[in-house]
Amino acid sequence: MFEAALPPDRAEHVRAPGAPGSALTPSDERFERITRLAARFLRMPMARVSLVDSRLLGFTADDDARATGTASVRSFCGSLVSGDDTSVVPDTLDDPRLREHPLVTGAPFIRSCAGHPLRMVDGSKVGTLCVMDTRPRRLREADLETLRFLAGWVQDELQMQVLNEGRAALIAERDELRRRTLLDPLTSAWNRDAVLEVLERELARSARDGSPLSIIMADVDHFKDVNDSFGHPTGDRVLLGVVANLRAAVRPYDAVGRFGGEEFLAVLPRCDARAALTIAERMRGRVEAERFETASGVVRATLSLGVATISRTPGADAPGLIEAADRALYRAKADGRNRVAIAA
Ligand code: GH3
Ligand code: MG
Ligand code: MG
Repeated sequence: MFEAALPPDRAEHVRAPGAPGSALTPSDERFERITRLAARFLRMPMARVSLVDSRLLGFTADDDARATGTASVRSFCGSLVSGDDTSVVPDTLDDPRLREHPLVTGAPFIRSCAGHPLRMVDGSKVGTLCVMDTRPRRLREADLETLRFLAGWVQDELQMQVLNEGRAALIAERDELRRRTLLDPLTSAWNRDAVLEVLERELARSARDGSPLSIIMADVDHFKDVNDSFGHPTGDRVLLGVVANLRAAVRPYDAVGRFGGEEFLAVLPRCDARAALTIAERMRGRVEAERFETASGVVRATLSLGVATISRTPGADAPGLIEAADRALYRAKADGRNRVAIAA
């Protein structure tokens, strides 16, 4: 009768706003399962997992205050279970700690309850598992044993949560470290090792599926003059701008890496010579048109570019393809710079 009349048993928690499904928030389902069992085994219309540690579970005091009823349920469970043992209150009206509580004097008019503390392995108390009824009740020892058993289960789930959270943090840290070892610190383009790794991977794929693959080697013209005229920091600023233009010129799945000081390598998967030429020309045109705003004023720069395509150098490995692009680049320089040359 009470089961039907009262709201379903729910784990007592709210998600932190802006963090849906955050790893810090225990899943509703796992806790709902346990509170449902608690309510059923103890024949109580309400069961709650009430968590006090905001850091652990992604709660903040503000969220608690906003979530209607959550704070009062938490304070109720907190008053009920203060020590280490299971607490049982057969009639809240006889209990000086609880009889003035708003959940006793007002809806849902709790008249009896029992709760068991939840602890982590380090001994810290993180919450309580509580069952509540709207009529006075005497619980049997077997019921309390069940409550303690279920509280142990909640503890295990919480412990698992902490372990998973720690593991996720470690994985994120490892990924970030790896990402940083692959990026050029000045321009945030892939560094030489990383872009070579991409090239090797794409060469292998091209060999597997026969798709065309091209690379572009791009070198800033007379860059030494930029440094000599405006200073190294201004040169750095120009390099950043060049990378932005190279990135803007390629397709989303192409890779742009810093191959050397003012030399960049773009790897273009599934890209034949014609398409590569178009991209290289786009790079050249963008940089030529750019006015790099620097602390020394506006600086202009141009690029020379060499394009190499696997279809024109069949069977080439990474060094072979790079050498072909380098030769083309050298030709572009020799022919007057600010131009694109394609490997023979
Ligand atoms: P070319 O047209 O033949 O390529 O002439 P260049 O002056 O660009 O070529 P060179 O190889 O003589 O000089 C490259 C210059 O790039 C020299 C070096 O100081 C500068 N450079 C390399 N790395 C960096 C960097 O990280 N920052 C700055 N500001 N300059 C760099
Ligand atoms: Mg140069
Ligand atoms: Mg160079």
